[in-house]
Amino acid sequence: MAQGTKVATRRRGAARKARGAIPPFRNEAFLDFKNRRVHASQEEALRRVRSQLGRTYPLVIDGKEVTTAQTFTSFNPARHDEVIGRFASGGAREAEAAIAGAWKAFESWSAQPVSKRAGVLLKAARILRARRREMNAWLTLEAGKTWPEADGDTAEAIDFLEYYAREAIRYAGPQRVTPVPGEENEMFYIPLGVGVAIPPWNFPAAILMGLTTAPVAAGNCMILKPASATAAIGWQCFDILREAGVPPGVVQFLTGPGGSLGEAIVSHPRIRFINFTGSKEVGIRINEIAAKVPPGQRWLKRVVAEMGGKDAILVAEDADLDAAADGIVSAAFGYQGQKCSACSRAIVPRRVYDALREKIVERTRTISVGAPEDPAHRMGPVINRASFDKIRQHIVSGQSEGRLLTGGKADAAKGFFIEPTVFGEVAPTARLAQEEIFGPVLTLIPVSDFEEGLRVANGTEFGLTGSVYSRDARKLERARSAFHVGNLYLNRKCTGALVGGHPFGGFNMSGTDSKAGGPDYLLLFLQAKSVSRKKG
Ligand code: NDP
Repeated sequence: MAQGTKVATRRRGAARKARGAIPPFRNEAFLDFKNRRVHASQEEALRRVRSQLGRTYPLVIDGKEVTTAQTFTSFNPARHDEVIGRFASGGAREAEAAIAGAWKAFESWSAQPVSKRAGVLLKAARILRARRREMNAWLTLEAGKTWPEADGDTAEAIDFLEYYAREAIRYAGPQRVTPVPGEENEMFYIPLGVGVAIPPWNFPAAILMGLTTAPVAAGNCMILKPASATAAIGWQCFDILREAGVPPGVVQFLTGPGGSLGEAIVSHPRIRFINFTGSKEVGIRINEIAAKVPPGQRWLKRVVAEMGGKDAILVAEDADLDAAADGIVSAAFGYQGQKCSACSRAIVPRRVYDALREKIVERTRTISVGAPEDPAHRMGPVINRASFDKIRQHIVSGQSEGRLLTGGKADAAKGFFIEPTVFGEVAPTARLAQEEIFGPVLTLIPVSDFEEGLRVANGTEFGLTGSVYSRDARKLERARSAFHVGNLYLNRKCTGALVGGHPFGGFNMSGTDSKAGGPDYLLLFLQAKSVSRKKG
């Protein structure tokens, strides 16, 4: 047997072996907090985590902890005098060292068999499962998530680890090439090199884990720069990866401001790719910086950017209005509307507008707002002072664009609390209906009929998620082809995407059309190599 064929056979064998050893992917079930024991254990975890607040955390470069003269602090958004942690503030010098170290680590990590790389992710999933209540507690205290929202974030982080481990194995398997007489041909995937993961604060466990570990599973090394508002959760995730056996240098932990540290990493000539999720503005900026080729750079950088949304739920005249109102309210105010997938526009034909408006307002008024540690509250605070001020401005200026139907009050005395707010009679071109507010503000837009509703739904620069409620199969089919969003839901709300089941990511200004938690995702961090050997 020729040498090339032997290597290909060995690689296929290793991938088959690794695949055979693990069961098919299944989504992690959510915790049932109505169960008294689960409830008590979550309370206990909150107490334990609170006793760990206020610590100082270093950077970690090549496995070594590094401190810096400057630090920054993260706070509990529900009690802004409570310090969650203090963090080293890295800059260009630390970025340089981390990138150099990651390339060194790449030499051995990229040569590891896929069973080893996938095995590390699977172990990290097991550790996170064991620490699930602690992670939930960090999410409640640092990100302001209610118990179920926190648990959803943790469960999704586990899902990403499990899913990408299996995907790495799949991509390491044989790839089809057309036989050519007289040749032995093969194509296989190799990693890109060193990339950077830049996650947002709003899914600080799930998105951070996904952005970091998908490339790592594919054989790359990563600089991880967590969002500053949720750096302690970033540390928890990094700590789990370390414990799971990610070798020194394969994931470098660098905290610091996006505007300086983030840009130093993104613009560095030895960064091969950028895996970013965050706002449209920062996504555009990163794309611009990454497009420049500084001296010494030997490639064009790949940018994977997941950005904002202005997601709509379109309700047809024939819809079940109670189900639609439930879906709209849940998608608008879950995690205080701070989800890229949140429903910020409800588009409703005039014939059912009044009836649906009443149902939405009635349900919104039952939502209690307060510290999310108390499971009685369905909404917690928004993330920080800057968000609080920005959302309040939208509420103030929105009053000249629509009718304030409920909510609108805000109180930052202790934490950054804003009432769930609904505006009615808003024009599709109003700022309220066009700009991403990223807070608990829902806009109702009346339209003449379903077709106009579809045009309005598509009438923003974004294209992330959307829903349609209707009992008419033809309308649903029409929306299936004409509603231009990356994630469309029929007769269910537009939040709550599941890894594997709903590969996630949007069109237009919502990003670079990638699909996290989907079968194409790992390809973004791989390149294909073709080898052709003449027989005989
Ligand atoms: P930002 O864009 O403000 O920040 C995201 C990350 O980028 C943070 O880690 C931030 O660091 C960093 N950063 C900021 N400026 C720069 C820069 N100039 N260069 C490099 N990195 C930089 O977003 P938010 O954290 O406020 O997250 C909310 C946004 O994320 C919303 O627009 C939301 O729609 C979007 N999002 C999109 C998702 C999707 O799948 N499409 C999913 C989740 C959220 P630092 O924190 O230090 O400023």
